[in-house]
Amino acid sequence: MEISTCPECGRIFVDAGTGMCIECAREEERQYETVRKYLSENPSVSIDFLCSETGVKKEKILKFLRQGRLLQVNITGADLRCEVCGTIILSGRVCEKCVKKLQGIATELQPEEPPQRQTGKMHIFEHIKNK
Ligand SMILES: [Zn+2]
Ligand SMILES: [Zn+2]
Repeated sequence: MEISTCPECGRIFVDAGTGMCIECAREEERQYETVRKYLSENPSVSIDFLCSETGVKKEKILKFLRQGRLLQVNITGADLRCEVCGTIILSGRVCEKCVKKLQGIATELQPEEPPQRQTGKMHIFEHIKNK
């Protein structure tokens, strides 16, 4: 925990990981609920219309989208782009293709097989067996 200035209201607060003061975090939750509720009834909407209907700032809606908190929605004009390849995406930070690529790299770094199974003996055994 550290003392910071709230980027929303400028007050000094103790940052517990939210990045803003408790009041602004609560307000953001309320706004999130409003947006989520509206989208559950109208999943396809332009971002400008969504802003005027819910009264929530465009930056906030984009933030929710980047956090992957608004799913199965089709918000047009959000212009959210994959952080890796720049493709337009509907939510999150990375497009599906890049997610798969990143997951591939992650599994390469963490082999599913325990290392003791890849001993020299095992290799020799496999070698003999294949002959
Ligand atoms: Zn605040
Ligand atoms: Zn991508």
